[in-house]
Amino acid sequence: MTLIFCGNSFKYEAEAVAKLFFPGESFDFLYEHLLVDGDACIIRRKKCKNYSFCFVTASLGGKRERRCGKVKNDAQNYEKLCEQILCRLLFLCLKELTGISPPWGMLTGIRPVAFINKLIDSGIARDEIKKNLSEDFFVSEEKLDFAFEISDMQRPFLNPAKNSFSLYISVPFCPSRCSYCSFVSHSIESAGKLVPDYVKKLCEEIAITAEIADKLGLVPDTVYIGGGTPTSLEAEQLFKIMETAAKNFNLSGVREYTVEAGRADTVTEEKLIAIKSAGATRISINPQTMNDDVLKAIGRRHTFRQFLDSYALARNLGFSNINMDLIAGLPTDTLESFKTSVDKAIELNPESITVHTLTLKRSSNLFGDFEKVKDNPVGKMVSYSQKALKNAGYRPYYLYRQKNTLDNLENAGYAKKGYESLYNIFIMEEIQTILAVGAGASTKLVNLSKGNIKRVYNYKFPYEYIGRFNMLMERKQEIIDFFEGVD
Ligand code: SF4
Repeated sequence: MTLIFCGNSFKYEAEAVAKLFFPGESFDFLYEHLLVDGDACIIRRKKCKNYSFCFVTASLGGKRERRCGKVKNDAQNYEKLCEQILCRLLFLCLKELTGISPPWGMLTGIRPVAFINKLIDSGIARDEIKKNLSEDFFVSEEKLDFAFEISDMQRPFLNPAKNSFSLYISVPFCPSRCSYCSFVSHSIESAGKLVPDYVKKLCEEIAITAEIADKLGLVPDTVYIGGGTPTSLEAEQLFKIMETAAKNFNLSGVREYTVEAGRADTVTEEKLIAIKSAGATRISINPQTMNDDVLKAIGRRHTFRQFLDSYALARNLGFSNINMDLIAGLPTDTLESFKTSVDKAIELNPESITVHTLTLKRSSNLFGDFEKVKDNPVGKMVSYSQKALKNAGYRPYYLYRQKNTLDNLENAGYAKKGYESLYNIFIMEEIQTILAVGAGASTKLVNLSKGNIKRVYNYKFPYEYIGRFNMLMERKQEIIDFFEGVD
C-alpha cells in the first residue's frame, strides 16, 4: 500500500490509521501526486480562499472509495483539525474497502480510560464524551461501555496521597524466553553468572533510592517486584532484595506488595516462603494458557500440571491474593481452547485475572510470524473472557492498549471486589510517582499539581547496569531536582 500526501505531511497519523486495517504491513510514502499502480491512498489538502478542502481517495484491489471534507482557514487549531479530518476520511474509506470495523475505532492511544477520566474531570458530560468518541473516533458501543465501566470502577482509587509513591524493583531474568516477549529479559541459564553482582547492585540502589525518598518526604504506598520473572532468582537472593527494601524504606504503611512469580517452572516452596515472610501480600502466577501444546508453541518450559501445582502450593502457604495472566491469540490456540483456559482460570478462583491480547513486538521471536497468528479469532476470545469473567463476579478495573496488538484490542485486568491492584491503576493512570530500581526500570516522576511527568531511565541490560552503576546513580539527582522544582 502506498500513502500519497499532497498539500500536507500527516504521515505519522495517517500511517497509524492505515495500520489499523493492514497490521504487519509496511507502507510506501510519496509526497507528490504521482500515478501509482496498485493499492494506494491519496491524502490531499487544497487550500482555497476561505476553506481548505480535504480529500481522501483510496484504491484497494481494483475498488475505489473517495471522501471529502473542509476546514475554515482561520479555524483555531487549523493544522490539528485538518489532520483529524483527513485521518477520519482515510479511516472511513479503508473501513468501506476492507469491511473491517476496528472496535476501538481510530483511538490509537494506549490509555483510553485515562483519556475518559480526564474529560470527565474537566466537566464534560458523559453523553457528550460518548458521542464524541463514537462519532469522531468511531469507537464501538461495546468498547465505550467497557471503558466507562472501568472508569467508574477506578474512581475510588484515583486519589493516592500526594507524597506517596510506588516502588518498582526490576529482576530482568527468566528461565527461557517466551516467543512473544519483547522484554529485555535474560535467560537465567546464560546470564546466571551476573546474578550475584546484580543482586548486590540492586540492593545498593534500593538503599540510595530510600535515602532520596526520605529526604524528599516521599512515603511508599505500593511495592511491585517484576521483571522478567523475579522467582528465577534463588530464595535467598529474593529474600535479600526484599529484606533490603524493608530495612531501608518504612514499609509499614504499604497497602499492596506484589511479587511476580510469573512462571510455574520457577516456583518452589522455599521461594514462596521467602516472599511471604519478607512481606509480599500479592503474587502473580501466570499460565498464559492452560493448553500444554500452546505452552510448548510459545516456548514456556512448564506444563498446565506444573502451573496447577504452583497455584496449589501458593494457596497452601496462605497466599490470599493471587493474580493470573492469560493471553488471547497465542500461536496454535483456538477459540475453544482459549475458552477452556478462561473457564479453568475461573474454576481456580484467583482474586484477579488479567486478559492480554497478543501483541507482536518487533524484538520478539514471534514478530516475523504474523501470518501464523493474524487470523486468530481474538475478538471472540476477548468478548468471551469479558462475559465469562463478569458472570463469575470479576469486575474490569484497568485497561491498556499497545501498538501492534492483534485486531487492535486491549489488555484488561479483572478483579473480585477489594482485590483491584492499586499499582496497576496508578501506573496506567499516571497519578503516582514510581521510583524504579534495577536494570530496565524506568522511574516515573509525577507532579499532579503542575501536571508534569518526567521519566528517568536505568540501563536496560544487567551487564551495563552493573558496569556503569556509579554513573547511573548520578542520575538520581534528577529525582531531587524534579521535586525541588529545579528543571
Ligand atoms: S516470562 Fe514474561 S518476561 Fe519472561 S520471557 Fe516470558 S514473557 Fe518475557
